[in-house]
Amino acid sequence: MPDVNLNISEAELKRFGASDSLSSRVIALLNQQKQSWDLCGKNYEALKGIKTKSFIINGIAVRIQFNPGRIKSTSAKVDKKSINNRKCFLCLENLPPEQRGIPFGKDFLILCNPFPIFPEHFTIVKSNHVPQQINGNFDVFLSLIKELGDKLTVFYNGPKCGASAPDHMHFQAGTKDVMPLENQYDLLTKNYGNVLMENGKNKLIAVDDNLRKIYFIEGNNPEDLEMLFYKLVSAIQDLTGDKEEPMLNIVGSYKNNEWKLAVFPRAKHRPEYFYLEGNDKIMVSPAAVDMSGLIIVPREEDFEKLDEAKIRKIYGQVCINKKKFEKLSLLLRRAR
Ligand SMILES: [Zn+2]
Repeated sequence: MPDVNLNISEAELKRFGASDSLSSRVIALLNQQKQSWDLCGKNYEALKGIKTKSFIINGIAVRIQFNPGRIKSTSAKVDKKSINNRKCFLCLENLPPEQRGIPFGKDFLILCNPFPIFPEHFTIVKSNHVPQQINGNFDVFLSLIKELGDKLTVFYNGPKCGASAPDHMHFQAGTKDVMPLENQYDLLTKNYGNVLMENGKNKLIAVDDNLRKIYFIEGNNPEDLEMLFYKLVSAIQDLTGDKEEPMLNIVGSYKNNEWKLAVFPRAKHRPEYFYLEGNDKIMVSPAAVDMSGLIIVPREEDFEKLDEAKIRKIYGQVCINKKKFEKLSLLLRRAR
């Protein structure tokens, strides 16, 4: 572990409103950072005035957020060469001098995200520089979701579908119930859910809402949830023949002593619009937040351009297709 200590002091945390819960401590950290770190304070202030527009597509809520501060992240070059040629911005020794954090578990640190999408937005980084992968970190993911769950939702972006630092393991957390999916979880389960596997309260559910292809994993037992998740991962690998982590985004929340995870298996990192030139281009790079119905565009022209047909196209291209989804669901049913 690098010899850098960024931990905020207990006295500072108390001064900024921390109580015993982890969620109150991280929000106190954010309050401290907004005050002592100029860029961070300015960017959270700017978020308050940001433009959004909303759609209901066949009952599914989608909101577009015009967020110029996200330009770097949306347009990030994540190929091997570009990654090797830049200094890792999540390594502790490269963080801005103002940055402070709160340790989590034995080797993670909770940091404020200075380029927010949410009124409270955090990046939870591993202390050492190891590649982004869920394998080996799933238990930490579940405990983060539980411990932050009263105020925040935690998410994971795979190294090839949304993580702007595919070379450095991290999760993110944002204000609870801001992503439209979180408020429609029960509705989607009821209207489009197909239970594929179940063990008591712990279930794997396939959801094709005609916009996106999603797997919900829900329940109260971490071992069962982990087992269901890895069954899903190996079914995707069986289908694609790929040995590496399949492209996926995961969003996790915690309510009434139960976890709810939405897993989005992906076909592509970016839709065709991203690679077009001139007027046809739409700079959108979907990750967990966008898949959950909050689409981020850093350019105003794209904010104006996005309509229902384009939103459908974007989801249609980045989600796995219907045929694959049905095959996958069949494989999972047979595997129970
Ligand atoms: Zn790093």
